[in-house]
Amino acid sequence: MSQTPRVAIVTGAARGIGAATAHRLAAEGHAVAVVDLLEDQAKATADAIVAKGGTAIAVPADVSDTDQVTAAVAQIAERLGPPTILVNNAGVIRDNLLFRMTDADWDTVMGVHLRGAFLMSRAAQAHMTQEGWGRIVSLSSSSAQGNRGQANYSAAKAGLQGFTKTLAIELGKFGVTANAVAPGFIVTDMTRATAERVGMSFEDFQQAAAANIPVRRTGRPEDVAATIAFLTSEEAGFVSGQVIYVAGGPLD
Ligand code: NAP
Repeated sequence: MSQTPRVAIVTGAARGIGAATAHRLAAEGHAVAVVDLLEDQAKATADAIVAKGGTAIAVPADVSDTDQVTAAVAQIAERLGPPTILVNNAGVIRDNLLFRMTDADWDTVMGVHLRGAFLMSRAAQAHMTQEGWGRIVSLSSSSAQGNRGQANYSAAKAGLQGFTKTLAIELGKFGVTANAVAPGFIVTDMTRATAERVGMSFEDFQQAAAANIPVRRTGRPEDVAATIAFLTSEEAGFVSGQVIYVAGGPLD
C-alpha cells in the first residue's frame, strides 16, 4: 500500500535506531524532521537522507526542555507542514545498581524518556488532532520487565507503556494511534556502552546475548525501523495502545 506523504518527527535520530527510522520513514515518502541534541549530528542524518533523494531537515532540541520542544515543533510545522507522525526515540542510559544510583542518574533518564515523550507528544498532538490523523510510536524496551542495573531505565520504559495506552484511549477519536515498540538487544552505541560497563568486548557481549535469543542473533536498528514503519503506516490505523517487542523471541 503506498503511503500518503506525511511530516514525521524522529527524536534522537542522529544515530542508532533513530537514524535508521528516519531513513526508513523518508524511504516511505515522508518528510522527516531529524531531532537531536547536537545540530551537526542531526544534520549528518538529514543530509544523508537528502543525498538519497529524500526530504529531511535537522532540528536541534533537547526533548526534555519544554521551550526547546515547543520551538522545535513550531519550526517543523512551519518548514515542512503539520507533523502527523512522531517517533519518541531519544534515549540515554545512566546504569547503576540501586544503592549507587544518584539522583542525577534517576532524573536524567526520567527527563529524556518520560518527560521527553510527554513534551513531544503534547506538542505534536495539536497538529495531529487538527489534521484528524496521527501516529505516535514511543520506544520502550525489553528492560521494562526489569533489568539489573537499570532501575531508572526500566521504570521509564515501563512508564512509556502506560503513557502509550493512555494516549491511545484519549486520541483515538481524532484518528490518532499510539503504540510502543520494545526492542531487545539492538547493536548501537547504547549497547556498546553497556558492554563497556560490564567489562566485555562488544563482540563477546553480542555473542553472549545472541546465544540467549531464540532467533540466535542480535537485532539491527533496521529491525526496529521496519516495525515503526508498519505502526506509522496507513494500514495500521486499527492497531493502537499496543506494545510490540522486537526482540528475536517472545516476551510478555
Ligand atoms: P543511541 O545510539 O544512544 O542514540 C540515542 C540518540 O538520542 C542519540 O543521538 C542521542 O544524542 C539522542 N538523545 C539523547 N538525549 C537526548 C535529548 N535529551 N534530546 C534529544 N536527543 C537526545 O541509542 P539507541 O540504541 O539507538 O536507542 C534509541 C532508543 O531505543 C532509546 O530510547 C533506547 O532506550 C531504545 N532502546 C534501545 C535498545 C538497544 O538495544 N539499543 C533496546 C531497547 C530500547 P547524543 O548522541 O547527542 O547523546
